[in-house]
Amino acid sequence: MQGQGRPDVLVVGAGVFGLSCAWACAGRGLRVTVLERNTPGSGASGGPVGAMSPHQPANWSPKKAFQLEALLSAEAHWRAVAATGGRDPGYARVGRLIPLGDAAARRRAEAQARAASAHWHGWDWSFHARSADEAWIAPEAATHGVAFEPLSARIHPRRAVEALAAALAARGVALLSQTEVRSLEDGAVDTVDGRIAAGRIVLAAGMGGFDLVKAATGIPAGCGVKGQAAVLAPRVPVSGPAIFAEGLYVVPHADGSVAVGSTSENTWRCATGTDGLLDDLLERARALCPCLAGARVVERWSGLRPRAPRPDPLIGPLPGLARVLLATGAFKIGFGIAHAVGEAIADIVTGRDPRLPQGFSPAAHGLGHRKAGSPIFGGGGLG
Ligand SMILES: Cc1cc2nc3c(=O)[nH]c(=O)nc-3n(C[C@H](O)[C@H](O)[C@H](O)COP(=O)(O)OP(=O)(O)OC[C@H]3O[C@@H](n4cnc5c(N)ncnc54)[C@H](O)[C@@H]3O)c2cc1C
Repeated sequence: MQGQGRPDVLVVGAGVFGLSCAWACAGRGLRVTVLERNTPGSGASGGPVGAMSPHQPANWSPKKAFQLEALLSAEAHWRAVAATGGRDPGYARVGRLIPLGDAAARRRAEAQARAASAHWHGWDWSFHARSADEAWIAPEAATHGVAFEPLSARIHPRRAVEALAAALAARGVALLSQTEVRSLEDGAVDTVDGRIAAGRIVLAAGMGGFDLVKAATGIPAGCGVKGQAAVLAPRVPVSGPAIFAEGLYVVPHADGSVAVGSTSENTWRCATGTDGLLDDLLERARALCPCLAGARVVERWSGLRPRAPRPDPLIGPLPGLARVLLATGAFKIGFGIAHAVGEAIADIVTGRDPRLPQGFSPAAHGLGHRKAGSPIFGGGGLG
């Protein structure tokens, strides 16, 4: 840090949340430094899937409205990132096909379509019979047709992280890899290279951030939900919309590879590594998309999704350490909302109203209202 001066904002963690907070703060003219214990994208943001899909439109809520606005502004955001740093994040609004295998699935999809037309500002669903150019969907998976949802996009997570890092460099943000934060204070952190003070600390360190909060305050601020995914190389490159069927995503990327995701494991023995659950998922993907049957599996990957006490983002000042802002709880939707979370953090830092859903606040997550050590999570996932 010598010679760089005291940053206005020190971001801990170079995943998509931390980098997006740094981008937004630098965009407000603030002096920003990012500290990363490994290399950018070495946490959950280094996965291969990159689906950017809206929540189901039924049971509309402020959280869903926040995500919708984020998805609608994502294209312009990623275009600006690409233009600033010269790196392509692999973003495209491709939409999402939902094959309908029985009458009940069709009815459910029609109900979602009605809710979408009430809330999605004209991004209406449509329905059609499986067509010749959708031959890569198995006919038996779409006996009751196919729903098309036009709002979904895809991004290449690792390239998105690289694109953000390049854009931050172009904006003069210092990004220090291999710099682990060991402890937090109000307005300073202790690192392997010594103490660093800043106007605000933005804690966007995913799973590592939960450990730092626990050590500093005794508050359990989150847990990890394991996910496994794979990358396939079809013999004939595929392109077009993502395909979604009961939790299974098949996402074609611009380079011709296809990502398949994801498992969702609240309890797990080993945080790293893949197993039979991924084999089962691949089997489902091959049944849904027969053209994947002969495709080589080029990568098997696993990671931990940072989940706050409730399955909502956790954004705002850490109780007891008001200069530490939490930017975490990205859980399953980090890539679609990261830029909006970054702008909200920049609003807080610059004294504006971030206009976040109340459910994202530390208080709504039970932080600051419970005795340290009391259980706030339902189910497992803590070990
Ligand atoms: C299998 C799987 C599939 C997924 N699919 C999708 C999808 O299709 N679409 C989607 O939007 N989301 C998806 N997600 C979720 C998405 O990956 C996360 O929401 C998002 O990446 C979380 O970003 P983050 O920046 O909060 O955390 P992370 O990416 O985990 O970043 C935290 C960073 O902080 C660093 N760090 C930790 N501790 C310290 C410390 N003490 N000092 C310094 N640095 C530290 C870590 O090294 C890491 O780089 C998926 C996740 C998984 C596991």
